[in-house]
Order: sequence, then structure tokens, then C-alpha cells
Amino acid sequence: MIEIPKEVDVLVVGMGPGGSGAAKRCAELGLKVLGVEKRAEIGAPKRCGEAISRHGMLDRIGIKPEGQWIMQEVCGAIVYAPNGKSVRVDYKGPEGWIVERKLFDKHLAALAANAGARVLAKVEAKNFRRNDGKVTAELEYEGGRHEVTAKIVIAADGVESMVARELGVNTSNKLVDICVGAQFEMAGVKGLTNLIEFYFGNDASPGGYVWVFSKGNGTANVGIGVRKPWAKKTALEYLEDWVRSQPRFRDASILEVNAGGVPVGGFLESNVADNLMVVGDAAHHVNPIHGGGIPEAYMAGKIAAEVAAEAVKKGDFSKKFLKKYDERWNRERGGSLKKILKLREVMESMSDDDLNWLVEYLKGDDLVELSRGNSGFARLAKILMKKPKLMKLARKLV
Ligand SMILES: Cc1cc2nc3c(=O)[nH]c(=O)nc-3n(C[C@H](O)[C@H](O)[C@H](O)COP(=O)(O)OP(=O)(O)OC[C@H]3O[C@@H](n4cnc5c(N)ncnc54)[C@H](O)[C@@H]3O)c2cc1C
Repeated sequence: MIEIPKEVDVLVVGMGPGGSGAAKRCAELGLKVLGVEKRAEIGAPKRCGEAISRHGMLDRIGIKPEGQWIMQEVCGAIVYAPNGKSVRVDYKGPEGWIVERKLFDKHLAALAANAGARVLAKVEAKNFRRNDGKVTAELEYEGGRHEVTAKIVIAADGVESMVARELGVNTSNKLVDICVGAQFEMAGVKGLTNLIEFYFGNDASPGGYVWVFSKGNGTANVGIGVRKPWAKKTALEYLEDWVRSQPRFRDASILEVNAGGVPVGGFLESNVADNLMVVGDAAHHVNPIHGGGIPEAYMAGKIAAEVAAEAVKKGDFSKKFLKKYDERWNRERGGSLKKILKLREVMESMSDDDLNWLVEYLKGDDLVELSRGNSGFARLAKILMKKPKLMKLARKLV
């Protein structure tokens, strides 16, 4: 093992997008930063649909979409109601990309390393304890242990986060706010285009949806998200049943199988404690309607790094000072994501008949704006008002 520092300004735990966003920005701001990842390979195994919008890639992550990790340009979307009717939106150029997540996460980590962060894979951080205004953690790697002391810990350790809990922020999720995902990477899939496909229906994917995202050359990321209390089988069983029901997959092959949880809501009151900021999935920073969290995690990491730099300059690592991170996140992302959570709550209260009815009134652009939390809420409420039994839901949106 190469030399590991004993003292750093910031220890970033977890090198997914949240950790890389934090580590890169810390390094750019002149902080001594160590990012550790317990898995042997950053980004693998992937648990992801691998879709990122133009806005997410350019504005939140801030990198050019070029490199071997770009698999497919996304030039629109098609959303299917339970009865098979669809709403479609087409763009002239790419409005998003399907990436190869294993390469993409590694690319983000390399950008952090190139900016000056020390990044180490197959190193697990554990046993955090506060001591003399700082935090000491044990780093466990193959064949050894090492202690590191940090002024600030950025917990970017994903949906199963333990770090925040050890340092005093309870990040546990309610069952209804956890979407369980299962996915296949498939080859030999017929009818793929540069449109991303979404399929809704309470029988096929209760509390979530099925996605089919082309990765080029007849390969696709095909996945499902389902939630309790509606789901009666495992996510993988729902996915297998759905794939079996679609003739276009009859001759397809499965190259990879993955599963994972997505925290789709349940935003926390606060994501800080003394010496600690929590980012990304660990902090439930995910779009509640589509479950996209890569740009959210990266951006939260950047904000946390900027607050860390101020804290180091002032020599103040208290919860009171780090609350600036909560404030900024709420201002820049929290408002939109909380609005989208209301939309999720409305959608999950609708029957298949309601969804089939609604699709007749919606345009593709409405869906895009709604999923981004930008606009369309009043229009959707107006449509729901047309059906007396949906009036109560409509009121949630205004
Ligand atoms: C099935 C599925 C499909 C999805 N599809 C999409 C999609 O299409 N688009 C999108 O934007 N988002 C998608 N998401 C969500 C997205 O994957 C996450 O929001 C994103 O990865 C969050 O980034 P993160 O850095 O917070 O956490 P993660 O990417 O989960 O990274 C956390 C890292 O911390 C490491 N770690 C944990 N504990 C420790 C420790 N003690 N020491 C060291 N390392 C540790 C873990 O090994 C992990 O690598 C999907 C998620 C799932 C499950």
C-alpha cells in the first residue's frame, strides 16, 4: 500500500459521484483531502440506469460529455401508460446521455485526483471518534490498518451509509422512501432508438417504473424500481416477468445483473453535525420522481467542499458553522426536490385507470418540466381537477 496521510483537512468517505465532486472541489480550493473507497474498483459493480440529463452533466457536474464513457446520446423520451398509450418528446440534439457508469465514476475520481486529491480504492473507513475538535477514523486495507485524523469528514458513503450515523446524523430511510431497483444489461434487444423509454403500471412496477435505455449496438440497460407497501414480489421477479412479457427481448441475452436501493425522498432536516457533512444518496439527495442521483450527489459534494474550505479558513468545524451547507443545499436544490416529492406522492396515489386517463392530457414537454421540478404543477393540478376523485390530489400540487 502506498503511503496514507495521517492528518488531512477533509476525509471523504466513498468515491461515488458525491465523493468525487467533494474531493475535486476540496483539492481545487487548496485543502488537503483524502478520498477512500471500500470497493476494489471505483464505479463497479454499477447499480444504475446510467442516464444523465444535459443539465445534470453540464451544470451540476460541469464536465464535457466526451470520452469512452459516453455510450449513447439521448434525443428524447417516450413514456408509456399502463394501457400502452404513450407520450413522446423529441429533441433536435442530445438532451442527455447514457454512460458506462464503471468508466464514468472512475473518470470523476481521476478528475479529483488530478486536481490534487489523494484517492485510494479498497480502503474502508470505520470506527469514527471525535477527539480534540477533530475526527479520527480507522482505514482498513488489505493486510493493514491505519489511523487518519481529519478536521472534517464528508460522508459520501451511499444509501447504506453508516458514517453519518456513527457521527450523529440519523440517515435511516422510511420504507416507502426506498425504491428497490433491479437491472439487466442486455444484448440483442430489438427496436432500440435514441429515446429513453419508461413504462408505468401498478401491476408491472408498483411504486416505480420500468426503464429501457439503449447503450448502442443492440445493448440496453433494462431495469425496474418498485416500492413497498405496493410491491408484493422482489424487484428482480418483477423485472423478469416484465422482460418475459415483451416480445422484443425474446432472443436477447443478459450480460449483467445488478440490484440496489434508491432513497427517493425523505429529505432530512439537517445533514451536518460537528466535523461532518453528509452528501448524495447518504443524505437522500435524489430526484424523487425518476430516482436520478448522480448530478445531485456531485453537486452536494461540491457545496460541502466549499463550506469545508470556509470552515478550515475560520478554524470552525462546529455543527453551527457547517449548517451553511444545509442552507445552501436547501436554497439550490432542496426547494425543487421537495416539490418533486409531492409529485411522486400524487403519482403513487393514482390507479392504472387514472394514469391511462391522464396520459390523454399530457404533452411530452409537460413531463420533462414536471420531472425537473421547474413548472407544469399548476397545469397538472388543473387537469386532475377535471376528475372529482382526483381533486384532493390536485390540491397537493398547488
Ligand atoms: C437501480 C438503480 C438505478 C439508478 N439509475 C440512475 C440513473 O439512471 N441516473 C442517475 O443519475 N442516478 C441513478 N441512480 C442513482 C445513483 O446511482 C445514485 O444516486 C448515485 O450513485 C449517488 O452517488 P453517491 O456518491 O451519493 O453514492 P454511491 O454512488 O453509492 O457511492 C457511495 C460509495 O461509498 C462507498 N463506501 C460506503 N461505505 C464506505 C466506507 N466505510 N469506506 C469507504 N467507502 C465506502 C461505496 O462502496 C460506494 O462506492 C440509480 C440507482 C439505482 C440503485
